[in-house]
Amino acid sequence: MLSTYRRGVLGIAGLKPVERLLTRHGWRLGVGRFVAGETAPEALPALASLRASGREVIVDVLGEYVRDPAAAAAMAAAVAAAIDTLTQAGVPAVMSLKPTQVGLALGEDVAAQHVLALATKAEAAGGSLALDMEDVRYVDGTLRLLQRAWQGGAPRTSGVLQAYLRRTPDDLEAMLAAAPDPNALALRVVKGAYAERPELLLPDMPAIRRAFVALVERAWRAGARVNVATHDERLLAETAAFARGAALPPGKVEYQLIYGVKPKLQQALADAGQPLRIYVPVGRDWYGYFSRRLAERPENLGVVLRGLTG
Ligand SMILES: Cc1cc2nc3c(=O)[nH]c(=O)nc-3n(C[C@H](O)[C@H](O)[C@H](O)COP(=O)(O)OP(=O)(O)OC[C@H]3O[C@@H](n4cnc5c(N)ncnc54)[C@H](O)[C@@H]3O)c2cc1C
Repeated sequence: MLSTYRRGVLGIAGLKPVERLLTRHGWRLGVGRFVAGETAPEALPALASLRASGREVIVDVLGEYVRDPAAAAAMAAAVAAAIDTLTQAGVPAVMSLKPTQVGLALGEDVAAQHVLALATKAEAAGGSLALDMEDVRYVDGTLRLLQRAWQGGAPRTSGVLQAYLRRTPDDLEAMLAAAPDPNALALRVVKGAYAERPELLLPDMPAIRRAFVALVERAWRAGARVNVATHDERLLAETAAFARGAALPPGKVEYQLIYGVKPKLQQALADAGQPLRIYVPVGRDWYGYFSRRLAERPENLGVVLRGLTG
């Protein structure tokens, strides 16, 4: 179950007056710790410094839950422009996208058209597109978007599995069955970041950890490449031990951590030569993303409160 703290923060962050107050004070509240810049060009120095320290990057142009087709098209254009900016700067265009950012809440066809165009563009530039997994209302639609991208000619498009949902092992089996080639499949495993109804969720953190490890191992056994996305050192150690024991070929494992979270752990993994990619958000639409990061750690809320009172 979600902790009371996490549910409380996500609930309060969802109130419009709170959103207005926090967005007005923006960067002063510590947003810059988690967001590399308000535009892709502004984020280039942070991306360069991560890469110089042995960390690859996956860039998320922030945005979610858009409510009209024009906004979805504008978001897609912003992501396309970011792909161009990265490519011109010599940074591989490995991108992450929230399906509701390009219109999944409006209809699957709207989103599918943008996803395919962006995934094809990223692959043509030598990169790829990952579809983030959002709240449970969008899981089925997102899994279908993934298949449509594979079928439409963007086979490197990758998906995300959330270990906290009871349904996820079935989703993994369906994904493996639908993949044109499970050996070419890439997927990210996370714990899950949204405030879902308790009956949809595993009961507690030990169960979520067990589910996380089981998903990673099942996907590896099926030949997939797994992006192990967590800051939980127990999970990092357990999955690394499995990967070593199973003597997985190099391209099958990647660790993914979030920009601004546990920088010392990030550097230690990079120094140890582990394949590591940092998820780097960029853009002005940071509110929802920032709220979820606050909800993950009580200490992060202290930064905001000090910013408001300081
Ligand atoms: C690369 C990446 C991509 C992700 N993509 C998705 C997605 O598509 N869909 C989705 O639902 N979720 C996504 N998440 C979020 C994920 O679901 C979890 O909410 C988040 O990673 C926190 O869980 P944890 O596994 O790191 O473990 P936790 O048990 O939450 O944390 C482990 C340790 O890391 C520290 N830590 C964790 N988060 C923070 C933070 N924000 N600030 C400071 N310290 C922190 C904790 O204090 C603790 O010490 C993603 C996470 C990562 C790393």
